[in-house]
Amino acid sequence: QVKRSGKNAFRFFDPALNTHHRERITLENDLRNALGRAEFELHYQPQVSLAQRRIVGLEALLRWNHPVLGSLGPSGFIQVAEELGLIGEISTWVLEQACAQLAQWRTEGHDGLRMSVNLSPFDFDKRDIVSSVTECLERHDVPASQMELEITESMMMNDSAGVAAKVRALRAAGVSVAIDDFGTGYSALAYLQKFPVSTLKIDRSFVRDLEGPMTNPIISAITGIARGFDLDIVAEGVEQAEQAEALQMLGCDIMQGYYFARPAPAAEVRSWLQQPSMVFPVH
Ligand code: C2E
Ligand code: MG
Ligand code: MG
Ligand code: MG
Repeated sequence: QVKRSGKNAFRFFDPALNTHHRERITLENDLRNALGRAEFELHYQPQVSLAQRRIVGLEALLRWNHPVLGSLGPSGFIQVAEELGLIGEISTWVLEQACAQLAQWRTEGHDGLRMSVNLSPFDFDKRDIVSSVTECLERHDVPASQMELEITESMMMNDSAGVAAKVRALRAAGVSVAIDDFGTGYSALAYLQKFPVSTLKIDRSFVRDLEGPMTNPIISAITGIARGFDLDIVAEGVEQAEQAEALQMLGCDIMQGYYFARPAPAAEVRSWLQQPSMVFPVH
């Protein structure tokens, strides 16, 4: 049997490919049922201010407790969910869950925390993301200033879905908007004028290269852009003390990474909120 793949390439039937194909179909079916079977869970990763020695925010990160495969991270299934048209429902669930959790922590006295939620480009396509977000905030009595939505540079490049107008409307409603993985895409500075975002998240790949308290052209450039546009900065993927120190010297105070805390279920995060020293390694 000969299969066509790509434009002109032919390849012979491959049993491994067939297995892969069957696994994919199983994954798709499981994914269609995951919401109804309550298999999704949010983990939360603290964002800390080094100067304040305080948790200032949390990023909600989706996990799928698959009945057979165990806990799955989003890189394995978000794209499939997007292809199947399931991402809208999933994002709605994530927003709802994140708001409910933030409201819960507010009642426990953790007041000024900011919750960051990752959005998919498809969230800007059909549904009205602006009213989904503002209605969710109202329902849970959470101030808009405590919600941040993370978008990527790729969403800003092709504005057919009117992303810029929606970002402006979200900002007008008081919601923060961050550019995730900043610096890895085609970040033309003009986008920062068209998309009035509030935060730049320095991608992990730039933080990884930081080896000590030395100058670093990329981090300096990003902090310079942030100052110029009056944006907040969050560094992601901080794994070592040296990186945290270097970032601080380069003018970046808010950080997120395994050095402080891994993403964790709400119960564990609650204990960190009650005892913030748990996420600050002693120097
Ligand atoms: P992201 O938004 O850039 O999230 C940061 C990722 O880096 C997370 O991976 C996090 O666990 C990981 N991370 C955090 N600190 C460190 C560190 O110090 N070292 C290393 N090596 N990694 C670190 P995760 O949870 O697997 O998420 C992967 C991506 O999936 C996210 O990247 C985000 O783009 C997407 N994602 C996560 N949750 C959602 C969601 O609810 N909806 C959508 N649409 N996408 C999501
Ligand atoms: Mg993110
Ligand atoms: Mg990121
Ligand atoms: Mg990243």
